[in-house]
Amino acid sequence: MKIAMMARNPSLYSHQRLKEAAEARGHTLDIINTLRCYMNIASRRPEMYYNGEKLEGYDAVIPRIGASVTFYGLAVLRQFEMMGVYPLNESVAIGRSRDKLRSMQLLARDGIGLPVTTFAHDPKQTEEVLALAGGAPLVIKLLEGTQGLGVVLADTDRSAKSVIEAFRATNTNILIQEFIKEAGGTDIRALVVGGKVVAAMKRTGAEGEFRSNLHRGGSAQVIKLTPEERSTAIRSAKAMGLEVCGVDMLRANHGAVVMEVNSSPGLEGVEKATGIDIAGKIIEHLEKVAKPGATKTKGK
Ligand code: ADP
Ligand code: GLU
Repeated sequence: MKIAMMARNPSLYSHQRLKEAAEARGHTLDIINTLRCYMNIASRRPEMYYNGEKLEGYDAVIPRIGASVTFYGLAVLRQFEMMGVYPLNESVAIGRSRDKLRSMQLLARDGIGLPVTTFAHDPKQTEEVLALAGGAPLVIKLLEGTQGLGVVLADTDRSAKSVIEAFRATNTNILIQEFIKEAGGTDIRALVVGGKVVAAMKRTGAEGEFRSNLHRGGSAQVIKLTPEERSTAIRSAKAMGLEVCGVDMLRANHGAVVMEVNSSPGLEGVEKATGIDIAGKIIEHLEKVAKPGATKTKGK
């Protein structure tokens, strides 16, 4: 296969691993800087250019679109889809995953366990929304935050109210969530590839930190999922329409609850914690499914 990988930093661990894995299996993989692609949205003959050359002949595209370039990245990916190039994850599915509220609505529709989550626009409803979420302690998070930044734990209703007011003043959208205390600062990430969980790890936050993100100083260890957690991860991937994703869950008293589904999961933490060749599994999956024109939605 001739594979294009949309990525901004070719030297990142995940990107290197995917390139190695593709080449080890006899494919070529070109790393293309997403922001340097430009396109001609011509009627019935969509074209993409890069460094003065037309991009042609690709069988598959691996989108690794960072959160900060979602808008342009999705446009580039859609253009590949229009050209009939098979995307590892579809543009529409990535778009869903980038909006926490939309993701949670889709997961809820499919009956997947979630923390109690409330959302409102009008500050006049703050008190009702706090009560709906069950009152303090509460987690308040930016709709478009990543890496644990923009996630705040409020211990009292009063502090919850002031955090909400502070966020509102900056005109950002926020979710208000029940705090899953029993998770104890640990979350679970399951890596789903082609409808199967291929690896799982638990991440534990640094001392005194309720956020378990590795970027916030958390550490990762291999973990064995319960059958319920495994099925929750697989159903979440399916609800979002993602072929490859990282499903983040918390162990609540009443079972697994999903916090987020990440469409460009980092491979370093999970490959190192589990010793599993996830990049190889991703390329293997692509070999099975990448057929010209097989993209389901083509951006619709
Ligand atoms: P981000 O997308 O920025 O990583 P998350 O929603 O995944 O934000 O939250 C970051 C971390 O904070 C999670 O990995 C988890 O450890 C902790 N966390 C988030 N929401 C809750 C919650 N409702 N209850 C308990 N811990 C939470
Ligand atoms: N790669 C990061 C992770 O898997 C986040 C990437 C993103 O924001 O989509 O946790």
